[in-house]
Amino acid sequence: MKVSPLLLVAAATGSFGAAIQAREESFSEQLLDTLGSFSSSDPIVSELSAAIRNSSALLDQAPSQNSAISARASSFQAQAASSNCDLPAACFITPEHPVQVAIALQVISRVQSKFAVRSGGHNPNPGFAGIGQEGVTIDTQRFSSLSLSADKSYATVGAGLRFGPVQEYLDSQGVAVVSGRNKYVGVTGLLLGGGHPIINSLTGLAADNIKSIEVVLSDYRVVTASRTENSDLFRALKGGGNNFGIVTKFELYTKMPRNIWYRNAIYAASDAKAVLKALAEVQKNMEEDSKAGIQMTCSPDGFTVAFVYGEHTNDPVVFAPFSKLVPTSERTPPTNGTTLEFIQLQSPPQPEASRDTVGVTTTPDADLYLDLYNQYLTINAANNGTSAAFLLVIQTLGAAAARVAECNGGNALGTSKRALTLWNPISTWTDPADDKRVHSVLTQIGNYIKSQSQAKKLYDPLIFANIAAHDQKVLASYGSQNLNFLRGVSQKYDRNGTFQRLQNGGFLVSKS
Ligand SMILES: Cc1cc2nc3c(=O)[nH]c(=O)nc-3n(C[C@H](O)[C@H](O)[C@H](O)COP(=O)(O)OP(=O)(O)OC[C@H]3O[C@@H](n4cnc5c(N)ncnc54)[C@H](O)[C@@H]3O)c2cc1C
Repeated sequence: MKVSPLLLVAAATGSFGAAIQAREESFSEQLLDTLGSFSSSDPIVSELSAAIRNSSALLDQAPSQNSAISARASSFQAQAASSNCDLPAACFITPEHPVQVAIALQVISRVQSKFAVRSGGHNPNPGFAGIGQEGVTIDTQRFSSLSLSADKSYATVGAGLRFGPVQEYLDSQGVAVVSGRNKYVGVTGLLLGGGHPIINSLTGLAADNIKSIEVVLSDYRVVTASRTENSDLFRALKGGGNNFGIVTKFELYTKMPRNIWYRNAIYAASDAKAVLKALAEVQKNMEEDSKAGIQMTCSPDGFTVAFVYGEHTNDPVVFAPFSKLVPTSERTPPTNGTTLEFIQLQSPPQPEASRDTVGVTTTPDADLYLDLYNQYLTINAANNGTSAAFLLVIQTLGAAAARVAECNGGNALGTSKRALTLWNPISTWTDPADDKRVHSVLTQIGNYIKSQSQAKKLYDPLIFANIAAHDQKVLASYGSQNLNFLRGVSQKYDRNGTFQRLQNGGFLVSKS
């Protein structure tokens, strides 16, 4: 185990006491050199310099056994949204300034420690944002600055924030940013995975609304990525995940309409054919009306449908295909409200459970939808008796979203310019004995969606990162040109391959 020098960094951030071992005599001087590239008037730089100087004897010692870390390991249980992602890091650090991240990365690469980076902790793939006792988890939650530009056109958002507090603050200022539907999800993980918002023909993906990104690279530089600075890194970070650096801050355009219309209705399972036909028809209508968004969650009991329109209105005609259907329950009646209120409604408390996910993309087709729903029911019925609940989430992506992306420096996904349907079989369960079975059931549903849509020429290769399973080839699904681009950006900005070799999880270019 080679992680104990991180305790120095942790000590300087106020997280732990120091206990240092390192390999070469000059290491403390190298750390001080790195600090030299940051403003000496910044108090954190002087604090870190003092910590390094005070610990230089320990820092510059030859490596020795790492007893300090082992003794502490059990105290640092990572708290992830899914129980299956709770991993007991050997060292858990919570920097609040990019310079601390730079020093942490320097120590990590010096001692070749494994590490993981976390923001909102909502990715359900174990090991993507956490690590066991063989490594360090860098939790960015203390990057929590939040402000709005004078003209209210963009917000500055710390990488450790979740979308709930961000939208709450912006709502009070009369604006909103493009986000996902859930207030608990972390800003960084969602944006680095592309970020699917419910109204996307109007806004593009959430990542397409980034103005700039502050990133700490593995060579300890803190850089800005935007359309005009490091524009290749800017594009790569939008969908390319945790391959390139540790994000500490975003500037996000406030392009989401604050005032929206929404409705949530539940339809009976016995109406499956009509409901799924209506969904495909609405998707067709949405290609002509970019303000509309729809999302459906299918269960054996029926369909929960969220309808959204990007302004205050009354009964938008785009949703007319549903008007003849009678819901079993009107969970949220048609409401002229705000983006914040909609997100709050979509964020019920999350019970403690394990979670897993699979992502497959098709184009819209009512017959395909019914076939896939029926097969989901069959597979679900065959797995009654486990502690798991299986749901089939259907999200839509308008053709116009790809065009919006191009207008803001592009993204890494290479989304085809046609209407798409993102299928997301998900599961929550409580008994760890079901872990493997759940994943195999989700894979089975995903494989069926893929094979049936391929047979009907309705398959699209895109695997949307934010709904993908750990064993899906997300970056390869962006196409060879985009994958090569991401490889090139990784080699340019992470020359030693720190994020590829030492990072614990994620959709890494080295594994694609
Ligand atoms: C209830 C729920 C609702 C969701 N709704 C949506 C939705 O509407 N739209 C959508 O697109 N997705 C949605 N998702 C998926 C979600 O966006 C992804 O799981 C995302 O990865 C979670 O981000 P996080 O920051 O919370 O997660 P984490 O688990 O903290 O991180 C996710 C990934 O990002 C990396 N990462 C985190 N912080 C940093 C950083 N500072 N620098 C570099 N890399 C970092 C991690 O290493 C990890 O690989 C939802 C998920 C849940 C559980």
